[in-house]
Amino acid sequence: ALLLTMGALAGCSNGTQTGDAPADTATDGAATIGLLLPDNVTERYASADKPYFEEKVKDLCADCEVLYANADGDAAKQQQQAESMLTQGVDVLVLDPFDGKAAAAIVNQAKAKSIPVISYDRLVDSADVSYYVSFDNEKVGELQAQALVDRMKELGLPDDSGIIMVNGSPTDPNAAQFKKGAHNIIDASGLTVLSEFDTPGWEPPKAQDWVAGQVTKFGDEITGVYDANDDTAGGAIAALKAGGVTPLPPVTGQDAALSGIQRILSGDQYMTVYKAFKPEAYQAAELAVSLAKGESPEADTTADTASGDAVPSFLLTPVAVTVDNIKDTVVADGLYTVDQICTAE
Ligand code: BGC
Repeated sequence: ALLLTMGALAGCSNGTQTGDAPADTATDGAATIGLLLPDNVTERYASADKPYFEEKVKDLCADCEVLYANADGDAAKQQQQAESMLTQGVDVLVLDPFDGKAAAAIVNQAKAKSIPVISYDRLVDSADVSYYVSFDNEKVGELQAQALVDRMKELGLPDDSGIIMVNGSPTDPNAAQFKKGAHNIIDASGLTVLSEFDTPGWEPPKAQDWVAGQVTKFGDEITGVYDANDDTAGGAIAALKAGGVTPLPPVTGQDAALSGIQRILSGDQYMTVYKAFKPEAYQAAELAVSLAKGESPEADTTADTASGDAVPSFLLTPVAVTVDNIKDTVVADGLYTVDQICTAE
């Protein structure tokens, strides 16, 4: 069972969940929208983004159909899934690329058929992407690293203490942004980066294996762990525990995954970054339905692809979450009920 750090979350028995907004006015005419997600090893992609996206599309357009495919961490598979959707005649593609560079081929093929592509969460490296819906991803890395630096100070650790860095997948353009943001803060802090690793496909077992190796090498010299998301942080924490690193160093994460929030409450993980993926999925769904209707909504801003092409964008704001604000963030937002959080796996 979870050893709950109480006080931060007042009572594990009476959570209130805020309801969703009432359905928006429906759209006339059927359309087919393709949703392509990158992996199944990340909690949000295995369970959250798809239902939120489908729910919003249905709200806006009762006749619209969503075709869904998950690439399972395989760029070639995603390419085939996209081709199959284009052959089936989708009106819009919402593409969260496993590999930001490789997926430019998908955007090309869609363009040849005049099918607009919304880059979802990760920006495909193509000037032909119609819109991008995501967060300020460099800011995500900064929030993670700042929280780690502050926590290590709070623990009274010397300014040049050793940390290790578990970054995201080398094929994910966001991972480069997270890492850049993290280095902005860590490099200025004086902390010593003992070693760092880009986790292929964000696979938690790979993060776990790598951290196990670092524990063998550095032992208790590891006094902090920058970890780019909650799922790989789960792997890192398992390795630290198995290796007997004491005390357990502060570990960062991202996504406010249910498992991450539970580890924060039990004290195993220090923080996460809440990127509200429900509004993100809703934003992409609204945009997809608009495009299917032939509209071209005005974007809030632009973001640059890896090659420097500006894409019209909607970027949401990430929020750092520690044990102190779980209630005011993910619970207040209705993402999880207190009961859900308090149910140990
Ligand atoms: C997303 C994160 C996610 C990670 C692994 C990133 O591109 O922004 O939310 O944890 O991919 O799937």
